[in-house]
Amino acid sequence: MFVDTALITVKAGDGGNGHISFRREKFIPKGGPSGGDAGKGGSVLFVSEDGLSTLFDYRIQARYEAQPGENGGAKQCHGGDGKDLILRVPAGTLIFNNDTGDLMHDMQKGETVTIAKGGKGGFGNEHFKSSTYQTPREATPGEKGEQFNIRLELKLIADVGLLGKPNAGKSTLLAALTRANPKIADYPFTTLSPQLGIAEVDAHRRIVIADIPGLIEGAAQGAGLGLEFLRHVERTRVLVHLLDVMPQDESDPVENYRMIREELRQHSQALYDKRELVVLNKIDLVPEKSEREKLIKRICRELELRMDRDVIAISGAARTNLHALLERLWKELNPADEVEGWKSPATTA
Ligand code: GDP
Ligand code: MG
Repeated sequence: MFVDTALITVKAGDGGNGHISFRREKFIPKGGPSGGDAGKGGSVLFVSEDGLSTLFDYRIQARYEAQPGENGGAKQCHGGDGKDLILRVPAGTLIFNNDTGDLMHDMQKGETVTIAKGGKGGFGNEHFKSSTYQTPREATPGEKGEQFNIRLELKLIADVGLLGKPNAGKSTLLAALTRANPKIADYPFTTLSPQLGIAEVDAHRRIVIADIPGLIEGAAQGAGLGLEFLRHVERTRVLVHLLDVMPQDESDPVENYRMIREELRQHSQALYDKRELVVLNKIDLVPEKSEREKLIKRICRELELRMDRDVIAISGAARTNLHALLERLWKELNPADEVEGWKSPATTA
């Protein structure tokens, strides 16, 4: 299983300082204390949010600070409170104190939790006035906001499951698409070892892809690939069905496609029903353009696939059309996403 991690520092806002002042008004020679109380600092909150699948944003910015409270003012003026800072993370993110190693929180779906509390605001001298104590010359400073060095940890759930016959080119494609190299924990299957990779569409958009090697050979016999992995890939949102257009064993790509579909149907209805992009691979083996187009057309026709919607032709080994493939997958995963570029995961409230 892949684990995504990020190290950040969060700092809640300090409380403002209380104020010392005395009323100075005409005809009132000795005015009473009038220094106002200060505002409290904003806290740092974590919110779990659907639609986020990695901690990538937290690799870009490392320090997050909530607003401090305002100081108190003269004339009983109270300082305003600092705004809270809200950090959005995927559900399932573990929040550790990186100095002690303690787990601070395990973010469940739809949860909001305060991780660093803002400091209380100090009292102005008006606060200390009493019938026996008419001229207090004291105010209190604001409390410091809490600060923590935090390690975020997330077990990655793949966005995309990659399947196809042995030798379709799955491992080659995954290697070609995957740049980032997150820590790999021991995977509990010895015979068949699923591979996960993180493909970067660009610096700010990532797709987690699971190679499903031998899903068929293994899981159908209840061996190798366990139910746990099956459950994992059943949570992916899109399947890539990789199809070798020029198999070495001279089998027919159309037949190969149907075979995998049938085997898929037999052991996971959930996977069978999932949205699937058919990726025609190894087009470098058909260099002649008209011949290639003819072949692609035939496959689409016989499988009743729509070229513009269901199919893309690539070469994993020659790295042809790989970026277009990633853009297609990104669109499948984020249909509403039109915004380019990185947006901070932090907002104030
Ligand atoms: P997997 O069994 O699906 O993981 O397939 P592999 O990635 O191991 O590839 C199987 C064979 O196909 C290897 O010999 C690869 O070098 C070859 N191969 C993979 N992708 C391509 C491609 O795009 N073009 C060509 N010509 N060969 C490829
Ligand atoms: Mg392989």
